[in-house]
Amino acid sequence: MKAGILLLLLPFCCFSQQEYSITDLKNGKFKADSSFIYTLPFKNHKKVFLVQAYESGFSHKGERALDFKIKKGTTICAARDGIVIALREDSDKGGLKDENLSDGNFISIQHIDGSVAHYWHLQKDGVLVNKGDTVIAGQPVGLTGNTGYSAFPHLHFEVQGYDSKGNYVQLATRFYTNKGVIYLRPGKFYRTRH
Ligand SMILES: [Zn+2]
Repeated sequence: MKAGILLLLLPFCCFSQQEYSITDLKNGKFKADSSFIYTLPFKNHKKVFLVQAYESGFSHKGERALDFKIKKGTTICAARDGIVIALREDSDKGGLKDENLSDGNFISIQHIDGSVAHYWHLQKDGVLVNKGDTVIAGQPVGLTGNTGYSAFPHLHFEVQGYDSKGNYVQLATRFYTNKGVIYLRPGKFYRTRH
């Protein structure tokens, strides 16, 4: 009987990515959702402030990305298990000029489903892992900073992966938080919960 129910549910719970409108996305309200649940990319129980979320007006229009305002030198932890596929940590430049777009330090971590999380604006020498390393969710991987296209110390976090049509795009991701399993909204504080 149990196996029968499982088989029945299977076709509905195996979509790689949820469908939603931009309004749903901004409100953090989706109807059916079986997407992966991420860990907030900071140490357990840390309180963090989200300045910009998905589609936020300042610099995230048309973007599925999150900006956490956070003190320089704060430990960044992996939001999901994966392999470090790219990184940079030699820059000490940041600002809002066009040339700053290429000044950002970052880490890119690839997950088992082919999606990749990007952690941006790290401080100089702020990468704690090596290319090729396997990391697990919650493991320290870097230190926040203000390099690249950035006006103040923050972490820009985004995940790129395949949508339901097979296109490689930025994905909105759910997180474990003190407010439950949710899509984050701008202007709010969240506490990490691993
Ligand atoms: Zn950003």
